Amino acid sequence: MSQIYARVALIGLGLIAGSMGLAMRRAGLAGEIVGTARSAETRAVALERGLVDRVTETAAEAVAGADLVVLAVPVGVMGELAAEIADHLAPGATVTDVGSVKQAVVAAVGPHVPEGVHFVPGHPLAGTEHSGPHSGFAELFRNRFTLLIAEDDTDPSAVDRLTRLWQGMGANVEVMDAPHHDLVLAVTSHTPHLIAYTMVGVADDMRRVTDQEVIKYSAAGFRDFTRIAASDPTMWRDVFLTNKEATLEILGRFTEELFALQRAIRTGDGSHLFDYFTRTRAIRRGIIEAGQDTDAPDFGRGGAKT
Ligand code: NAP
Repeated sequence: MSQIYARVALIGLGLIAGSMGLAMRRAGLAGEIVGTARSAETRAVALERGLVDRVTETAAEAVAGADLVVLAVPVGVMGELAAEIADHLAPGATVTDVGSVKQAVVAAVGPHVPEGVHFVPGHPLAGTEHSGPHSGFAELFRNRFTLLIAEDDTDPSAVDRLTRLWQGMGANVEVMDAPHHDLVLAVTSHTPHLIAYTMVGVADDMRRVTDQEVIKYSAAGFRDFTRIAASDPTMWRDVFLTNKEATLEILGRFTEELFALQRAIRTGDGSHLFDYFTRTRAIRRGIIEAGQDTDAPDFGRGGAKT
């Protein structure tokens, strides 16, 4: 694979940036990768693990001379970081991000991107419940989608170049607008996470009643919820604070369906339950057929990674 950017700056060196650094280095997609993070410890681990070629103490130093800048920090701090780097961006550079929410990032970062610098927000639909500089791995994006956001005035060549970078890291790339992204993700990721957090919270309350039995006899359904509910608290707090409308819309629909199922259980309406579960089973088959998961008993996790 040939080099796509001469210098990439990674702002934040956690799961996503670390995986990008490893994937880019392995495929030779960047001439040099410079990184920065809030703590000296994270920066040291990033160097030690070879996530980047070089680290800097500040984001302003990291972006100097970079032709691609990746904001890979929690969504809630992207705006302030964009303000910090604005005066240091090279003309013609592209700024992108990997945040799980897109409208809020566009609103927070967009105004700081100077004339002559491209802004192409992005979101890799790949992750695990682990975070920090030790958690990244080069294969994270393989056969996963990365969604890029383009507006009418976005330079197509900047989108094309970033598309080739993500493809070089193994991802399938699609372009869409930010509101659509946020609605799709509210259905496929954000609301399911909230439900998992809730279920594990309920079980935790029960555990106090049932003397640890929830943990001891943890069955597949609950175990899968606990994995999702172990995801990074900062990241997920920011997701719900910033994708408020779409999440509330989907939660409203979820609650209606839940009441319908609750009524079916109460009234003994077996055919309602059976038909519902038949329909949902087909969705699982569709995901497996689309190559986005496997039907192995551990859901293809092979340990902790999804
Ligand atoms: P992570 O592993 O927790 O890493 C976050 C990084 O951001 C850390 O290196 C942290 O530095 C740095 N950071 C935090 N606040 C900062 C600040 N104020 N200034 C500079 N650096 C700061 O997070 P992640 O999972 O890679 O997530 C990064 C982004 O990707 C988030 O926006 C998230 O929504 C998105 N995303 C996550 C997933 C997922 O499954 N995890 C999937 C797709 C997209 P320290 O280590 O020094 O604190």
